[in-house]
Parts: sequence; C-alpha cells; structure tokens
Amino acid sequence: MARLNDNFLKLKAGYLFPEIARRVRVFSETNPEAAKNLIRCGIGDVTEPLPEASRKAMHEAIDELGNRESFRGYGPEQGYEFLRQAIVDNQFAGLGIEADEVFISDGSKCDTGNILDIFGPGNVIAITDPVYPVYVDTNVMAGNTGEADENGAFEGLVYLPCNADNNFVPAIPDQKVDLIYLCYPNNPTGTAATREQLQAWVEYARANSSIILYDAAYEAFIQEDDVPRSIFEIEGAHECAMEFRSFSKIAGFTGVRCAYIVIPKALKGTLADGTSQAVHPLWSRRHSTKFNGASYPVQRGAAAIFSEEGKAETQALIEHYMGNAKLLREACEKSGLAVYGGVNAPYVWVACPKGVTSWGMFDKMLEQANVVITPGAGFGAAGEGYFRISAFNSRANVEEVCRRIAEFL
Ligand SMILES: *Cc1c(COP(=O)(O)O)cnc(C)c1O
Repeated sequence: MARLNDNFLKLKAGYLFPEIARRVRVFSETNPEAAKNLIRCGIGDVTEPLPEASRKAMHEAIDELGNRESFRGYGPEQGYEFLRQAIVDNQFAGLGIEADEVFISDGSKCDTGNILDIFGPGNVIAITDPVYPVYVDTNVMAGNTGEADENGAFEGLVYLPCNADNNFVPAIPDQKVDLIYLCYPNNPTGTAATREQLQAWVEYARANSSIILYDAAYEAFIQEDDVPRSIFEIEGAHECAMEFRSFSKIAGFTGVRCAYIVIPKALKGTLADGTSQAVHPLWSRRHSTKFNGASYPVQRGAAAIFSEEGKAETQALIEHYMGNAKLLREACEKSGLAVYGGVNAPYVWVACPKGVTSWGMFDKMLEQANVVITPGAGFGAAGEGYFRISAFNSRANVEEVCRRIAEFL
C-alpha cells in the first residue's frame, strides 16, 4: 500500500475560493438575467494587459532561442545575472543586497510554500489573522500543524490578530516564535506597516533568533513616502529576514510567472545540534536540486520592466489600479461604512454594516448588486465582519461597482 500524506485531508476545512465559485454558480443558474451583469471583484488577479516593453523583450528572447548562434538551454537555476543585477539596482539600491542574494523563481506562491523545505521540525510558526491562505495551507501540508477547529484555525499555529484597533499590523507576541509571516502592504486588508512597526518586529526577531518571512508582493503599490518598501530598509533585518517579491502584480505577470526571494547571506538559523547555519546555501541547494530556473524569455520580460519604457508602463498600471482603489474607497465611505486599506495596496477592506456577517455581505452584494466580493472570514477568524474589494479591474467596471454600492449599501 502506498501511504499518502494525511495532512492534506486536514485542509478540507475552510476553502474560500471554491465556496465563492459555488455560490456564484448557484446564483447564476437561478438568475440567468442578473448573472449577465455580474462584476467580479473577488480573486486578486490583474486585468490589464502586459507592458509593451515586456512583450517586446519576450519576443526578442524567443527569436534568440530560434537561432543556433544565440540559442540557450538550461539557464542558471538561481536566475540569470542580468535579471538578478537589475533587481538589485532598481529595487534594493543602497540596501546592502548583492545580486547573488536574489533567487529568481516562477512565482511567490510557490516560493512561500517551497521555503518550508529548508526549515526543520518543531518550529513555532506565527501568522497574521486574516492572512493570505497559502502560508497556512503549506504549513498544514508540511505537517507543521494539528487539526483545524470549527473556525478553521489550526492547532499549533500562533495566530496574530489584525484589526482596526492595531491598524491591521499585529502586536508583538508575548511568547517566543521561530518563524513569522508578515505581508505588507497586506493582502487581504490592503493596509501598510510603518517603519516603527517593522522596526519592532525586527528587534523581536533578533532578540528571539526568529526569522521573518516578509512578503512584499504589493511593494510597487505604495504611494506614501514614509511607508517602507522593503524589510531591508530596517536596520538589523539582514540578520533576521528574507523577502518575497513578485512581478505578478506590478507588471501583470500573473500568467507569465516570475518572482524572487532575497536571502541575505547574514541570515542564520540553527541546526539540530545547536550550531548556527546560514540559510542562503540551503535555499541555493534546494533551488538547484528541485528547480531548473525560470524561463529565459520570461526573465527577459521581467528585466524589461526596469527599462525607461518599462518603468513608465508599470507606473501607468499602478496608477490605474490605485485610481480604482480610491474610487472604491470613496464609494464605500459615502455609504457610511468604515473603510481600510486601498491607499498603498490595491485592496479595500471594508467593515460590514452592524450585525451583518462576511458571508451575509457576500450574499447581499451578489444577489442585490450582482458584485462578487471576498468575505473577510475566508482569510481567518479575525476577518469576520469585513469584506475585501479588489481594485484589479477595468475603470468602467469599477465605476459601475461604485454606482451599485451607492444604490444598494
Ligand atoms: C498575488 C500574491 C503573491 C504573488 O504570487 P505569484 O505566485 O508570484 O503570482 C504573493 N503574495 C501575496 C500575498 C499575493 O497576494
């Protein structure tokens, strides 16, 4: 008999997007006319086409591959030098990051999951609540948790509640944890962490020899000057943090696939015998063994966003989505709802009217306004009483959503 990984069956509890899809399907089958007007502001996928600079670079790269003289086969597993260096120069200038501390991959979702390969058993793992579900589910699959309770909270994880009182940045825990997942600007709440808040987390991590897994997938959406763009802007972070970044949201790469992790060589963990060990060589080895590099045309397309043309085009994309976020924020505020996020991230996080649950709000928006939103409770127990509206949409759709919010909320 082939033994399977029982941990996968623990995941059955709380599965957000399939449940949203099921409710939308039932609604569409019973209301075929209304379903024609349906606008989806649920899943956080981009809608606007790829920057021309990236497309041109990818076309050229494909042509290079079609020519014997310029053909390339397997590339370096850690990524091409041209992309690693462009990332350092354009995203981490002055922050003490070297090109060989950047590991190119085909996505941050995979990176945040795969990183667990290099951590041993028995770590105390802290996640924010609400949270991007990938951090939780990959720990469940890896056997780092017990079973889920009726709220979908897994035994063995330390949940750090994020709510309006703490501006959706968790308080420093009073217990010792080994791994901490932080995502700022945040999905799902759309809120950003201040320099002081990140400084406090870095100090905590250094005092407790813990490692911060910092997900900065939405860095490009930061609009306010005083919001840190990288954890490595914080003094001491090189000894206690790694950072995940992705081209998905900044450049419409959700279908193209390219991302990276920055792991400073100064980042260390502990081996079973108590000795200190750098993290960098472990991830390098893991990448070389289980990954054969992101596609060459894709890496060329990613590097092209750092050209003058690429910068202008990605800036226009960001302005488009953040303009949407502003309209959505204003529409919800006008309806008298408490609104968070949407200033430095393309998500607006809205408190449901008094007495209405997240799923109640989901159903109301679906049935009355024919708008698909995401119920906050799907991201964790602390998300109950909130819903998320994604600003990833066309301007016409967002304007129509705002009109419907004014009519129905
Ligand atoms: C979209 C997103 C990512 C990016 O994932 P990719 O696999 O690179 O597309 C990473 N983290 C969060 C929180 C996200 O919302």
